[in-house]
Formats: sequence, structure tokens, C-alpha cells
Amino acid sequence: MSIPLSPTVQKLKPSATIAAAAKAKALKSTGVNVHEFTLGEPDFVTPEHICNAAKEAMDAGHTHYTPAVGIPELKQAVCDSYQRDHGLTYQPNQVAISNGAKHSIHNVLTALCGPGDEVIIPAPYWVSYSALVELCGATPVIVDTTEESGFCMSADQLRAAITPKSKLLMLNNPCNPTGAAYPVETLEALARVAVEHQLFVMSDEIYEKLIYEGSEFRSFATLGEDVVPLTIIVSGVSKAYAMTGWRIGWTLAPVELTAAMTKLQSQETSNPCSISQYAAIAALNGSQECVEEMCAEFASRRTYVMQRIKALPKVSFAEPGGAFYVFFNVAEHFGRPLPGGQSVENSSDFCSALLEHAHVALVTGDAFGAPGYVRLSFATNMATIEAGLDALEKFLS
Ligand code: PMP
Ligand code: GLU
Repeated sequence: MSIPLSPTVQKLKPSATIAAAAKAKALKSTGVNVHEFTLGEPDFVTPEHICNAAKEAMDAGHTHYTPAVGIPELKQAVCDSYQRDHGLTYQPNQVAISNGAKHSIHNVLTALCGPGDEVIIPAPYWVSYSALVELCGATPVIVDTTEESGFCMSADQLRAAITPKSKLLMLNNPCNPTGAAYPVETLEALARVAVEHQLFVMSDEIYEKLIYEGSEFRSFATLGEDVVPLTIIVSGVSKAYAMTGWRIGWTLAPVELTAAMTKLQSQETSNPCSISQYAAIAALNGSQECVEEMCAEFASRRTYVMQRIKALPKVSFAEPGGAFYVFFNVAEHFGRPLPGGQSVENSSDFCSALLEHAHVALVTGDAFGAPGYVRLSFATNMATIEAGLDALEKFLS
């Protein structure tokens, strides 16, 4: 008997990044040496002082329910970090701690948007954006950006996408999958349009600490006092502190919206993991040297990966200013025959063929709203990067 699943779940697509990683893992379990570049997950271990804080929290008996959107000490640590890093003054009642930034995004959308609302998303976008908008019954409005513009949406593009139904812009800076780090002038122009139209802006800044030479980061809420009431910052500890498994993310938002998300979270998950919350306090309040060290390592991998991809035939990309991805165009390879007579017609075919014949695992650009492209995550060790790029080069030639 087939189970009559809800229409919402029937329409929902699985996460393409997680699916690509699972496919690579399945091949690996058969004994194949797979060069894995799928998940955007730092390969570093979580720094020791953060793990120690979690152990101490357990020993101190912090193993029970906490307030729905986090303990006061963590909310304060989040506020202090935005004051320190961006000169932004937030109060703890504007902070909601959740089970990872993905959950924070779901909270924002569920609290703010519903049927009849339009949510503007610049493409290429992170795979979960459009899926989570659809999950809350709202309509994603996709605005395509180009490699030539460094994959940044302009104020004119935003203005042209706005209708009376527009409720929210989902901005991701630096961007997954392109690595685009928005120039301050572009952000300022986008902020003016948002204020003019009283459009809410969810600014997903989870990669803010991973910025490379020649690029800069500005938090959206710093763009003016009139921007703050419209801004919802989303971030978390996953990327900067190599804490993907701990599941701690947050929002900084107007009090009323934070209260709505608190109500929501009290019904859906009770609270984020108590032990992880103590670990996150140590991450935010402790020395930031570990972040600098990991960022320096990502920077040298980025240089190497870009140099290798530049040397590949008929491939193009915009240099990533932040995050840990290179998003490159392979469309000129479509239509070419492969060993065995198959031919590659799109990015998804390309990724399947690459995995099958060269054992290199990438994520298809189709999942990010960018046909013709593929994403490589360089959040993996140099040995894998070198061997994987050798295999990719051989496959393309
Ligand atoms: N936003 C972006 C742009 C991401 O790439 C990710 C991927 N992890 C997230 C949010 C979610 O992060 P997490 O749930 O691990 O905090
Ligand atoms: N955000 C990461 C990625 O894009 C982790 C996987 C996921 O949550 O989608 O690969």
C-alpha cells in the first residue's frame, strides 16, 4: 500500500547537496576511491576549547530543556559579537537561537510569509532557499544574476522584481554556491530599494568570516538606521568554527518577529541542544585565532583550486570573494561523447558522468537555479583537492 503523503511533502524536493553527498558516500562504500567535493562542511575538527566547554556543560548538569530560543548567556554572547565585529547594537530579545541556520531560515519564512506572498531570491541561490519558501506556501521569485556581474544582484534588478505581493528578499552574502561577496556600494543600493518599498531582507551572513583578499564584508544591518527594522540577519557557528554537527544558528531581528519565532520554536522543537549552546558561547566569547587559522587554510586552497580550474579547457567562473566554493560553467562540454557512447547534455548529466567515470563528486548547478554550472566545495584537505582536480582535468580532456 502506498502511503498517502501530504501534498506539502509530495511537492518537496530533497536537499540536492545532501543527496549528492549521500551518492558519493554510497559509491565510496563499495570500495571506490571517491574525490569528494559535495558538502559545504569544514573538514577541520571543532577547536578544543569549544569541545571542552561542551564537556564542562555536561559535567555541570546543563543537560535539560532550555528557554525555547536559547539561554540568556548565549543570546548575550551573540549580541556582544555583533557589537564587537560590526558596531551593531542588538538586545537579547532580538535574538533567537535555533537548531542551525537552516532552521533559522525556516523560522523566518514561517513567521513572515505565507500563501500569496512573493519572496525574491537572486540566483544562483543555495539549494534550500526555494524549497523552504515553497514549504511555507509562498512563491519564490527568482532573479538571475550573471558571471560578468560576479553573481551580484543590482538594485535595478531588485526594483524590477518587486510587486505589491513582495514580502521578503533572501540575500546570501557571501553567497553559496558562487562565493560572491557583495561590494558595499551594491549593498547600499539594494538597501535603498528595500527601504523605499518597505521590503524585508533576510541577510544570510553565515560565511561572513570567510572572506578573501580583495573582498570585503559588510553586515546588511549596518547600512542605515532605517534598514535595521527591515533586516533579519541569519547566521550560525557551522562554517566559521567547524561546528556543522552541533546545530546552532541564530537570527537577529525586530522584537515582534523574534517573539513570533519564539512561539513557533516553542511548539516545533522546544529548544536547541543545551550542550551545543554552551559550546557556542565558548566559540563566540573565546579567542578568534582558530577562525583566522581556518580561514587562512581555506584561502590557500582557494588560490590553488582557482589556478587549476582556470587551466581547464572551456570552463569559466567568477572568482569567489568568500565562502568555500568555486562555481564554474561547464556548458561548453555538453554534447561531447563520453567513453561508452553516452553524451552529457546538462549539469546533472555532467555530475553523474564525472562521478561514474572519474570518481569526482560535485553538485549540479541545476539545484542552485544555475543550469550549465557545477559547484566544487574546497572545504576538504589538499590531498583530495589535488587528486580530484587531476581526475577532473583528465576527464575533461
Ligand atoms: N545558509 C547557507 C548559505 C548555507 O550554505 C548553509 C549550509 N550549511 C546554511 C545556511 C545552513 O547552515 P547550518 O544549518 O549548518 O547552520
Ligand atoms: N550548506 C552546505 C552545502 O551547501 C551543507 C549541506 C546543506 O545543508 O545543504 O553543502
